[in-house]
Amino acid sequence: MLKQSHLFTHTKKEAPKDEVSKNAQLLIRAGFVHKEMAGVYSYLPLGLRVLTHVERIIREEMDAIGGQEIRMATLHPADPWKKTGGWDAIDVLFKLKSRTDNEYALGQSEEEIVAPIAQEYAFSYKDLPIALYQIGQKYRDELRAKSGIMRGREFGMKDMYSFHTSQEDFDTFYEVVKKSYITIYERCGLTAKVTEASGGSFSTKISYEFMVLTDAGEDMILYCETCDYCINEEIAKIKEGDACPKCAKSSLKSGKASEVGNVFDLGQKYAKAFEFMYTDEKGEKHYPIMGCFGIGVTRLMGVVAEALSDEKGLVWPTELAPYSFHVLPLLGKDADVNARIMKEVDTLIATLDRKENGVLFDDRTDMSAGARFTDAELIGIPTRIVISEKSLEKGGAEVTNRHDGTTTIPSLESLTA
Ligand code: ATP
Ligand code: MG
Repeated sequence: MLKQSHLFTHTKKEAPKDEVSKNAQLLIRAGFVHKEMAGVYSYLPLGLRVLTHVERIIREEMDAIGGQEIRMATLHPADPWKKTGGWDAIDVLFKLKSRTDNEYALGQSEEEIVAPIAQEYAFSYKDLPIALYQIGQKYRDELRAKSGIMRGREFGMKDMYSFHTSQEDFDTFYEVVKKSYITIYERCGLTAKVTEASGGSFSTKISYEFMVLTDAGEDMILYCETCDYCINEEIAKIKEGDACPKCAKSSLKSGKASEVGNVFDLGQKYAKAFEFMYTDEKGEKHYPIMGCFGIGVTRLMGVVAEALSDEKGLVWPTELAPYSFHVLPLLGKDADVNARIMKEVDTLIATLDRKENGVLFDDRTDMSAGARFTDAELIGIPTRIVISEKSLEKGGAEVTNRHDGTTTIPSLESLTA
């Protein structure tokens, strides 16, 4: 339980003037993030709790499909980047020079680091497949960073890298990851569409993108409402209104979307760059097939803030909410009634704080009810519970659902059951 009077942040009426994105405006006004510069944000207590919940969901789903979590360095030697050509080819790579003139890169993706790590342990076909993942910061010299936490120069990513003995094994694993990604987005309150495979950037073979429809998105997709067909407009040979090439039952719609995940079939590119080979059953040597599976962790939080919010503020889905219950006692002039309200609030918090993501306790009873309700709506905790003389007279507490605004008055016993 966190007492709101103790929380060092408070809500703001205005977001910084230079902040044009809705997600960052709301997150800044509600005290979830602090803007350092375009594309760089710090996470404050409420925001960090949401981010931690996103990370927990991802971690659970990656562990469930056999991913092994590691934490790789983000300050990289230049050497492996030069070996793969990324040093010159990747325009978003941040390059640093030390005072002794040594060169370094900041991790924008970590194929260059993970391939040599896997190479140290995988010698035989018996050692494969391997799937290594991490959740952490990435750095990219992005030119346009106007989408709040949806496009950062420093941002959170889950990146998983897999190594396989055959294309078939990669394809099978891709199907497993795809299911797990869809589950992750659902648990975050979003529906993601998967684009058809397309040729990726910097000479990778095939990529699949996971897209969520939102006006704040930077991509345009064509999708079918009857089947699951979806394609990025950028590469597509078809257009809006054309019959769906998969089911032929509907005409394709076009919409703005945000890419919340991406899968690259990297083929043998990185294995070849590092001379990473394994031995098969016959003793022959081969390069493994490598896959890269990304999820934009902070972008995902931004898309949720963007897509699920309303004119009053943020609306968090159950699993992501910083807290599940926002408890607000409203006091009056009668000391005995006030004492009873606070006693009921104590009992309620003792029970609810053990459930789901726990309780945010608005103990700021000296503030006006209106201002506290406005704060609660901006912060967006799923269930608001008000205990007042009026609610006790009606037999319990006033419980308001942030998603649909409906209010019920269940008894206090049923709430603490
Ligand atoms: P985009 O086309 O949006 O730039 P990308 O193709 O460069 O994305 P990847 O390199 O595949 O993205 O990174 C994996 C995931 O990380 C993306 O699917 C996206 O969700 C997220 N991501 C990429 N760039 C950023 C960024 N600058 N800020 C926040 N998230 C990002
Ligand atoms: Mg990019």
